[in-house]
Amino acid sequence: MATAASQVTHYTSYKARPFTREQRDKTTILFGGLTWKHERLVQGVFNNLNYNARPLPNIARADLDAGKELIDTGACCPTIFTTGSLVNFLKNEVAVNGKQKTLDDYVFLTAGACGPCRFGQYHESYEMALDGMGLKDFRLFLLAQDQLDQAPEKPGGLEINMHLSLGIVWAILVGDILTDMEYLTRPYEVTPGQTDKVLQESADYLFEVFQKRPLRSNKYGMLAWHFISSYFADALRVVRKKFDAIEVDRLQVKPKVKITGEFWLQTHEGDGNYNIKRWLESEGSEVMPPPVAVWLGYLLHTPLWRLSAKPNIDRKIRMKMAMIRGMEKLYNGTYNRFRKALAYVPHELPDQEELKTLASPFFHHELRGGEGHMLIGKALHAHLHKHANMTCELSPYSCMPNTMSQGAMANVLGRHPDLLYAPIEIKGDAEVHALSRCQMILTEAKKRSQSEFVEAMAKTGLTLEKIRQIEEKNPKVKKATYRIPHYGYASTAANYALHLASMRAN
Ligand code: SF4
Repeated sequence: MATAASQVTHYTSYKARPFTREQRDKTTILFGGLTWKHERLVQGVFNNLNYNARPLPNIARADLDAGKELIDTGACCPTIFTTGSLVNFLKNEVAVNGKQKTLDDYVFLTAGACGPCRFGQYHESYEMALDGMGLKDFRLFLLAQDQLDQAPEKPGGLEINMHLSLGIVWAILVGDILTDMEYLTRPYEVTPGQTDKVLQESADYLFEVFQKRPLRSNKYGMLAWHFISSYFADALRVVRKKFDAIEVDRLQVKPKVKITGEFWLQTHEGDGNYNIKRWLESEGSEVMPPPVAVWLGYLLHTPLWRLSAKPNIDRKIRMKMAMIRGMEKLYNGTYNRFRKALAYVPHELPDQEELKTLASPFFHHELRGGEGHMLIGKALHAHLHKHANMTCELSPYSCMPNTMSQGAMANVLGRHPDLLYAPIEIKGDAEVHALSRCQMILTEAKKRSQSEFVEAMAKTGLTLEKIRQIEEKNPKVKKATYRIPHYGYASTAANYALHLASMRAN
């Protein structure tokens, strides 16, 4: 007779069904979580390695409802949205092609990590949702974000190796540069819609570039090639020519708004964050989007703090630290090479040590989870260096790490009362409330950009008409790819007026 104990069904963690090499040609790898530009380039990387891959459709409001139905109610808003996105995609596939074909045709690759926040449990939410849909056999794979080479000894259908990881990292860096160009250009374009058109052409062109990336059989050869080769910088020079054709009018006075916040929310462009970047542009602002590269720089740099905190640093640790510093130099050098290909118009990456120092009176750098101390460091960096008139911080509903950072920000604002800060809680279904809060601070930022412009014009001693004449005499300044030096003002128009004034003798 069976005992009660033998009838208990114990919990077993999810284990994906095998994805074999032979299934590769017939299987599509799904992924998501970045902007459409980054995802298009990542798709090029997969194709380059002979995988079929496609990003999930961009997040929509309906994904929030689908996610809420299937995962635990305390989940943070990015987890709900991203789970809901996978759920809706699979529901649709099952309805069109049937369950077995859906299980056979797709696998899903998601980033993962350990740590104190939901990010370490994303896959568990996906598993819960799949279980609820009766698709427990659907295959999920984790891409650990702190390892470039996760290749198993026996090659399977998906090999997370150096070739794939390097491609994804480079796609992210190039995607960041492209996104920065987009947001620097669109608010000032003379012909509406031209930036989006050039952006689409550039993303399609770069997709091909990644698809045709030359491969080296040796993984260290591949690593060296990525750092040494001019392949991607050359491609970005082609993109520069495309952006060259866009005429901009930078004398339009617009407040500059820096976006910070939780990783997914700040990166996302769509319903998941109320399309806030486009909304800010429609309200007459220039947006500074957050590059994903800052997060990768953080992952690369933070081991140095842990290593240097060890007592009696021995030779091995010193060597490890030297290696990390070397990698960091190569990483930043690569990003700057890409910026150079676009005439240094895209912003440079902030220094990780400076972010830590700025944040240190308010938030300890070893408090991990979410963006950690960076949320505070980035807001102060933009404010003190006069890179932005205001910061809009996107904070997910039910996010523990962001709640801590927001608490610390109250202290920051006490000490820096002139920092314009709009912390917006994003739940996915309270758009009017969130945007109206942002609008209140934006009104102040608009006034600030206006005063900056008035002050800058007074410094030039010129009329607007005279400034326009200088602009007409130097048509190159009207190109989207012309770099405007920073004259100590946050808004573009003030810096631009001073720059034109400096050209008057030419
Ligand atoms: S940082 Fe916050 S919102 Fe992002 S995954 Fe972690 S808990 Fe969720």
